Amino acid sequence: MTPNETIMQFFHWYYPADGSLWNKLKEEAPKLKEMGITTLWLPPAYKSCEGGYGVGYGVYDLFDLGEFDQQGSVRTKYGTKDEYVQAVEAAHQNELKVIVDVVLNHRMGADETEKVLVQDQDAHDRLKKVGEPYEREILDKYTFPGRKGKYSQYIWDFQSFSGVNDKDDLGNNEHFYRVIHDQYGDNWDESVLGKENGNFDYLMGCDVDFRNPAVREELKNWLSWYYDLIKFDGIRLDAIKHMNPYVINELLDYTHNIANKPLLNVAEEWTQDIGELLHYKEISQGRVQMFDVPLHYHFNEASLAGNQYDIRRLFDNTLMQQSPDRCISFVENHDTQPLQMLESPVDFWFKPLANAIILLREQGIPCVFYTSFYGAKYTDKGKDGQEHEVELVPVPHLYEMIKVRRYLSYGFQRDYFDHPNTIGWTREGIGEFENSGCAVVLTNGSEGYKDMELGKRHAGQTFIDVTKNRQEEITINEDGWARFTVNGRSVSVWIRK
Ligand code: CA
Repeated sequence: MTPNETIMQFFHWYYPADGSLWNKLKEEAPKLKEMGITTLWLPPAYKSCEGGYGVGYGVYDLFDLGEFDQQGSVRTKYGTKDEYVQAVEAAHQNELKVIVDVVLNHRMGADETEKVLVQDQDAHDRLKKVGEPYEREILDKYTFPGRKGKYSQYIWDFQSFSGVNDKDDLGNNEHFYRVIHDQYGDNWDESVLGKENGNFDYLMGCDVDFRNPAVREELKNWLSWYYDLIKFDGIRLDAIKHMNPYVINELLDYTHNIANKPLLNVAEEWTQDIGELLHYKEISQGRVQMFDVPLHYHFNEASLAGNQYDIRRLFDNTLMQQSPDRCISFVENHDTQPLQMLESPVDFWFKPLANAIILLREQGIPCVFYTSFYGAKYTDKGKDGQEHEVELVPVPHLYEMIKVRRYLSYGFQRDYFDHPNTIGWTREGIGEFENSGCAVVLTNGSEGYKDMELGKRHAGQTFIDVTKNRQEEITINEDGWARFTVNGRSVSVWIRK
């Protein structure tokens, strides 16, 4: 029996830009293993357009993992290439798998301009052209002068892109243009999943055109080089909505063949629409797991609504409910954390409840967020344009719940979703894990209890609440049932004493 999988997202948006993350990972790896983390999702490791400060999603050079003096620094936000390689080695020595964050949709921070034929389009229907194509001087050529052709000679220019951005005639920064090159069609890639404004191929920067076979070859070349270097265990695919999903399949198959081992790939399709997620599930044919975005938003809503939220509805139209075999469940991430682009934080009181749901149920693979475990303190401008200071304290009892998942939360699951404010479930336990089995009760209302069956194998045994929210001891009766209690707006996790 393989132990339960638990992923930790080992970074957040505001992690200090001091080049220390890879070394921190090296130090923390033994502890993470011991508590029950099995896999780490690491941030984009290559040079971004913001050099030593970029989180990594504004990718400049995939082959620069903190090795070349480009975009103002040698190291990335997280450290040097050597530190990165050593950190991944430390993770592997501690039996921690590593998921690498791969941004294929766009490039940012070009080195040179070139004359390009561009086409304007209707803002609300990007497939509708406006006017005739015209020439424009665009900053979209990537020559990587610091790397000087090491590892790859490929130069990215307009033929590698379906769209580019530049200032418009009024000096506005956000303007983008369709690039005209005859070989690969004269419009946006219509196979992309996102259909907002007619077509959501273009997201930001220079938009990579996967219809160009030379682009696909170069990406395979890079995947080969990257795998040889660190032997990663899975890929987290950014911005899946904006790319041709069949090319993604092709690239994943290519990587799988090189690696010759199971890869834990995760796709980020940012939508609350379960239909769209299930559609992509069909296309990806088992190659990826998907982030349960609807469940995250339900956590956000429930945490704000208090006891007005019918907690049984948490699972409605989520991947956890509709496709548990493809579900990566999470409470928060680097995009939803306070002051970020998709800010939708889960209110503090609800975080232990939400983490219990992702960690202790049978369905889904949980991904625990960095700040939930380590906390964080940072300042940034909010949507109101004002500077805000944010302090996130670690989620209470997270360590204990991750441990319960690793060592005890196994076996048959019985659900008790029979009250709008209080729900519970039990895991019966299995022989392979000593003393396994647990009972969970949570409520967004007042103090309460749940009569639940744990199984006759536990008859006569004493159970305690690992969160210590409840102090009493509970004895399982001869039929394998007991009355499990919970405090108001709280969670209790009952395990064998
Ligand atoms: Ca795109």
